[in-house]
Amino acid sequence: MALIVQKYGGTSVGNPERIKNVARRVLETQQAGNQVVAVVSAMSGVTDNLIKLAKEVHPEPNEREMDVLLATGEQTTIALLAMALHGLGAQAASLTGAQAGIVTDGIHTKAKIANITPKKVHDLLDAGNIVIIAGFQGETPDGRITTLGRGGSDLSAIAIAAAVKADVCQIYTDVDGVYTADPRVVPNASKIHEISYDEMLEMAALGSKVMQARSVEFAKKFKVVFEVRSSFNNNPGTIVKEETQKMEDVVIRGVAVDKNQAKVTIAGVPDKPGIAAKVFKTIADANINIDVIVQNVSEKGLTDISFTVASNEAAKAAKVLQPVVKEVGARDVKSTEGIAKLSVVGIGMRSHPGVAAKMFETLASAGVNIDMISTSEIKISVIISLADALKAAQAIHDAFGLGKA
Ligand code: ADP
Ligand code: ASP
Ligand code: MG
Repeated sequence: MALIVQKYGGTSVGNPERIKNVARRVLETQQAGNQVVAVVSAMSGVTDNLIKLAKEVHPEPNEREMDVLLATGEQTTIALLAMALHGLGAQAASLTGAQAGIVTDGIHTKAKIANITPKKVHDLLDAGNIVIIAGFQGETPDGRITTLGRGGSDLSAIAIAAAVKADVCQIYTDVDGVYTADPRVVPNASKIHEISYDEMLEMAALGSKVMQARSVEFAKKFKVVFEVRSSFNNNPGTIVKEETQKMEDVVIRGVAVDKNQAKVTIAGVPDKPGIAAKVFKTIADANINIDVIVQNVSEKGLTDISFTVASNEAAKAAKVLQPVVKEVGARDVKSTEGIAKLSVVGIGMRSHPGVAAKMFETLASAGVNIDMISTSEIKISVIISLADALKAAQAIHDAFGLGKA
């Protein structure tokens, strides 16, 4: 008997009919002779609505209370899916993240999983139940409800798969798998059959929201092989796993676009040692993740330091930097919206030169201006104007021949 963990995302459980569809699929998996754990997201739109609701009550909601609120989204779905399964005559029981034994640190709204003790999960499975677990949530050792960051149900599923030593981990979503680009952005994007953890991690971190980046990091660390596939058909999906030799033959695996970016610039910074350290220590202490960094030295001994952050953290970043600006005698700090990050990703880049040149030439031919550049061994990212993002993504995708034949 195999133990299978299946995760169903927001669209897949978006209305009562779809919840019943998921119930049928989960039951079929059990009836085929398996033990099944289903991890579910909030119904689509619910988390966004809860955030909106919170902001109508308070412009900067307390993060502990935010987690109490957001966790209700997934808690609704687990109960509904259990009821739908009961309606099909199945034996099923739901568990919140805390009940499933998911313990996290106390960084509210983006907590990290510390450990999982899945005793209750095993007990319920052994008693013949389909076990339904709320994604996206956990509990601190002292009993506070936490959430795992947007898209966090992916992380719940992969972490649970690792904890229960599942034989199979399937991430069911509203696309057939991981594509060479978001098919909603690049219509002729093609499905990738196999992708390495590192490529999937970069794609996710660079804006391909089909998987939450932290979930992929976790999968890589604990060697959880998983498949991304559709809950609306039976097509085979994309296998995400350790890289194989053959994967290096492909120069570019995919193109990612991140439209949720903002640029923070500290202007007129005296050019002396220790200032960048002070700036980025302040940002790190505020738990803000930074991305592309650029520092321009001007002739008068003053520099500008710019970096990008997720747009929902730009205001917080500018705010925590105000005192630093005063302290170091910089001119000011401001944040700019309206930018996007466009990236190409592929482990083949390590052995095939010329990717950057081709990318920049393609953007030049498309009349797209590059604002910032950042590279790693397996990716090249450029910051461009948001207005250019779609045409730039399509042009790059075409230039590297990634489209469907
Ligand atoms: P779920 O609710 O199932 O977690 P998400 O909305 O989080 O689903 O992720 C699925 C979406 O990710 C797709 O509908 C698609 O628009 C988007 N996406 C972005 N990049 C990619 C990609 N490279 N391949 C497939 N889907 C992608
Ligand atoms: N409901 C959460 C979100 O919308 C978590 C998830 O769906 O993965 O971000
Ligand atoms: Mg998701």
